[in-house]
Order: sequence, then structure tokens, then C-alpha cells
Amino acid sequence: MEGLLVDAVMRIGLDLGGSKIEGLALGRGGAVRARIRIDAPRDSYGATIEAVVALVGDLETQAGQRATRIGVAMPGALSPATGLVKNANSTWLIGHPFDRDLEAALGRPVRVANDANCFALSEATDGAAAGARVVFGAILGTGVGGGIAIAGRPLDGRNAIAGEWGHNPLPWPADDERPGPACYCGRRGCIEAFLSGPGLAADHEAATGARRLPEAIAAAAAAGDAAADATMARYEDRLARALAGIINILDPDVIVLGGGLSRIARLYDNVPRRWTAYVFSDRVDTDLRPPRHGDASGVRGAAWLWDAD
Ligand SMILES: [Zn+2]
Repeated sequence: MEGLLVDAVMRIGLDLGGSKIEGLALGRGGAVRARIRIDAPRDSYGATIEAVVALVGDLETQAGQRATRIGVAMPGALSPATGLVKNANSTWLIGHPFDRDLEAALGRPVRVANDANCFALSEATDGAAAGARVVFGAILGTGVGGGIAIAGRPLDGRNAIAGEWGHNPLPWPADDERPGPACYCGRRGCIEAFLSGPGLAADHEAATGARRLPEAIAAAAAAGDAAADATMARYEDRLARALAGIINILDPDVIVLGGGLSRIARLYDNVPRRWTAYVFSDRVDTDLRPPRHGDASGVRGAAWLWDAD
């Protein structure tokens, strides 16, 4: 890295997905200095480390500066007990001391955090929940995940699973929601099994016999299709119940939705209207907001894992 200025302000964030690795260099005030996306090596831990090192080098060349600290968002988490990766759907990372190996390869301090925590941190730092003290980020996509940011820092938790609400059972189930759809985790009736994109599509198919993508169901409802509207109403009531459970425990100032289903605009009116029936409070002032940074929030949150100094 000779020839590059060292800028203590420049921060690099990386988002390690199953198919892509996204890298971002942020300068003063969060200005984007460089952005690169590469294909993620599959099934090789060593190749993943090498790809990350090369990506950091390319970001620094593009930005013309060297970063002193690196943040990485990843699926899963580092176990506080063992220091090794667990719960990652990029299974070739599991069982490795990913942060220490990256630090050794990069010669710099590295912080690694769960991608949903990075999403919450990004939206809490300069996104939809900027300035809010307690933020819950709810990811509604292929799966259902969640992360918590408090006072601008991610909350990891004693087991590094804080915010993981997807495999709790759906609260206040109706008779026809018990035992609920099977989930890959081995249980039935998980929040994820109802509220993921595939969960929404399966519910619509069970009610109507029609296989449609979640976006198509939402579009049909908006166009006046009564069956699609009924599917969306069921989804909204389930999401209201699931988030009421979060509000009763964490009582966040703002809940930001992420993932593909966060683009369904009617959720932001209809879900808060329904959750008052389930939250243990005379009134509910919690804000439910769409994300500002959307898919870029993982990589932005990774960059914010380090305090500016
Ligand atoms: Zn489950």
C-alpha cells in the first residue's frame, strides 16, 4: 500500500453474501469514495479470505487512500464462546475464526457483525432511523431476520443472536394457524414460515390455488383483486403480531423494514394500525419506516462498525 495516504476517517465496509461480496469505502460524513461488487467464491474459506483482501486493495486504489479499519457484515455470527463462525448459510465459513484470519491477512483491525445487525446500524446511523436511540431492523425477504442498534452501536448479545426473531413462533395464533407451516429449522409455525416472501406466496397459494410472487400479490391487491387483498390483510395482521412481540420486549423508537418485502408500501400504514391491538400499552407511538439505504445497508452498516475518530 505504499504511495497511498493513510486516512483515519476513511472506513471500508464489506458485505459478504452467498453469491456476491460488496465493498464500500466511505469518507468524511459518509460520502462514498469507492464501491465494488464481486462474485463470492463458493465452498472455499481460503478463497474467501483472498477475495476479501483483494477487494480491500481495489477499494483503496480506487479511493486513493488506505483505511485503517475494516468492518464486515456476514450471515451468521461469531460465537462469543468459541470465537468461531456459526449460523452462516455460507456454510464454508462455519467453524473458522473469520475476524482473526482477516486481521492477519489484512494486517489491520477487523470487526465482523451479523448482516441484520449491520442493516439496523446503517439505518440508525444515517438512514431511515437516523437519530433514533433504539432501532429494530426487521428483514423480510427469502428469510426473516432482525437486528438491533442502540445509541448508534449494534447489540450482539450474550449468544450473538440478539434480534433473531424469525424462529420464534407466530404470536397469538388463530386456530387455522396452528401448528402452522413447516420451517427448515425443524419446527412449525415460525414467524419466518409465515412472513418470508416464500411464506407469503405459500399462504396465497393455499387460499387461492394460484402461485404468485409476493410482488405480484401486492400489485394485484392494489389493482382491486379481492383474494390478493385478503392475503395481504392476513400478512399484515401476522406482521403486526410479530412486531408487537418485539415492541413489548424491546420497545424500539423506530422499526425499519428491510428485504424485498419492505417495498410493499401498504405495510407502513396497515401494520401500525393493527399492532395497537396486541401491544401492551394504552397507545403505540413506535414508527414503522421503509429503509433509506435498502440493499446497501449491509455494507454501509459494516463500515459504521467502527466509530469515527
Ligand atoms: Zn423456524
